[in-house]
Amino acid sequence: MNTENMVIAFSKMILNPLTKYRLRRLFKKDKNGKLIIENYIDAYINDYNIDSLEYNLLKNILEKGVGTFAGNELNEKAKEQFKDTYFKKGLISVIRGLLYFGVRRPFVSGAPFLVVWDITYKCNLRCKHCYANAGKPLIDELNTEEAKHVIDILARAGVVALAFSGGEPLMRKDLFELIDKAKEYEMQVSIATNGTLLTKEKVKRLKEHGVDFIQISLDGLKESHEKFRGIEGIFDKTVEGIKNVVDSGIICAIAMTATKLNFKDVMGVMGLAEELGVDQFMLYNYIPVGAGSYDIDISPEEREHLLNILWEHLQSRGSKKPAFLSTAPYYSRIALQHNKCYLASHFANVDLDENDKLKTLANFIGGCGCGRFYLSLRANGDIQPCVFFPLKLGNIKEFKDENDFLKFWRENKILNDLRDRDKLKFCGKCNYKYVCGGCRARAYSYYKDYMERDPGCILVKK
Ligand code: SF4
Ligand code: SF4
Repeated sequence: MNTENMVIAFSKMILNPLTKYRLRRLFKKDKNGKLIIENYIDAYINDYNIDSLEYNLLKNILEKGVGTFAGNELNEKAKEQFKDTYFKKGLISVIRGLLYFGVRRPFVSGAPFLVVWDITYKCNLRCKHCYANAGKPLIDELNTEEAKHVIDILARAGVVALAFSGGEPLMRKDLFELIDKAKEYEMQVSIATNGTLLTKEKVKRLKEHGVDFIQISLDGLKESHEKFRGIEGIFDKTVEGIKNVVDSGIICAIAMTATKLNFKDVMGVMGLAEELGVDQFMLYNYIPVGAGSYDIDISPEEREHLLNILWEHLQSRGSKKPAFLSTAPYYSRIALQHNKCYLASHFANVDLDENDKLKTLANFIGGCGCGRFYLSLRANGDIQPCVFFPLKLGNIKEFKDENDFLKFWRENKILNDLRDRDKLKFCGKCNYKYVCGGCRARAYSYYKDYMERDPGCILVKK
């Protein structure tokens, strides 16, 4: 059976009303306080057999799912991966997503995998084109108790990863309390920072509190970075912060946003990323938002050129660090255009031997994560589809518990619009609509219509 037919067979199995009814029961609490599905997955990976219809159904779904999207031979390997806490949480969210939304292209998870949370707009720098217009905190930023309640809601809803961003998250006094709270739920925690406050002691503390990942913004080599940040000497301080993170063993990424101001420096920063031994170089797709002006946006040709360079570096290095990635959704399109069995995207990197399966999987992973497995929060609890997308969907303080949040995730109209790639105005007719979908924040920034085309893509220009 080819992959397409396997997907159809898998969809039929999941969409069967009896299957759905049984799956729903797996999301009830078991005697030990965990969800039944969690206990069943533990049994599955440890080869315990449970005499129950629901257990056998879950086992069947796991095996058929892996077989359909990755290949039957990977079933044993997948069992090993499910042992990883974050992977297991992600898997549960995938199954909840199948239950709520069915087998869709691209895929929608049962709760966001990742929430990026600007926990304060306080910042020690005044960058010229800051997306968050940061500097001073908002007067209504969530206090510690409110912020902890948000973590309760997100963790119980099944959010796997929490990224603290800002502003400068390290300026928030209760940051460590919030990290500890998220870690109590075994969430993956990351910090997005300007790097200037990452002293050896601070990094050591972050490690002790279990931070998994630190992303540091570096927007050029010395001259451009300092021009952009407006402070002399800040480049060396940032590089020192990066070195401290690398030395600590916490996963470290350099984030660079390419604009007309630093375009010429991209290769240089990529080289520096390699020299410093970071795990990832993440090229951010510039979105004119906040203090970011339209006139520094790069052209579609420049963007295409950069993404092709990035792709060449990524695939020629194999498993060597750093991985060269991008938040630009067209990066997945470029990976597929090269017709290699490797898929690169902001949220996932997949390496498969079979091109047929890779293409199928690419259509499910789907480029822009907005409304599908990603959500953002502002410091006052306002909910947005993405940090670069200033459209308020509600405020998390309105939710009593995880059930209110999950209802919002399922039913919000804007999130549901963003999930439907067929309805997109230009991208909806593109062959890569499921793989990429364009950046919805860029469409919103340029046209105040999130379903419009993304003017950053070369195919739109052509
Ligand atoms: S036209 Fe739209 S969906 Fe197609 S590659 Fe460009 S941005 Fe992506
Ligand atoms: S709108 Fe989508 S593609 Fe654009 S930055 Fe947000 S998640 Fe990424």
